[in-house]
Amino acid sequence: MGTTSSDAEWRPHPFSWAPGAQQRHATTTRRWSHGAEVVALCGATVVADNSVQAWWWTTCEPCDVEAHRLAGVPMPPGVPRRRGPTTGGTPVVGGAALPR
Ligand SMILES: [Zn+2]
Repeated sequence: MGTTSSDAEWRPHPFSWAPGAQQRHATTTRRWSHGAEVVALCGATVVADNSVQAWWWTTCEPCDVEAHRLAGVPMPPGVPRRRGPTTGGTPVVGGAALPR
């Protein structure tokens, strides 16, 4: 007894959320403690903040996307996605397709 086993650990996802630097980041670090530096999925190194209000910070967008990919969950529809510049001069009217 007394072994800190990791296999039996309940870990439903391959990442953890780690609030830090005013945003809620995701990290692959299994365990982090308040004040520890963690490397987030977006590449930023943040000081983890386990305070209550930290969990109400907004989600870091690159971390959100990467966390969804790690979990194998598609991003929910309605998430604003930046569009690249169109090559033509005609603006594209979105959502104009009507069923026939
Ligand atoms: Zn992030």
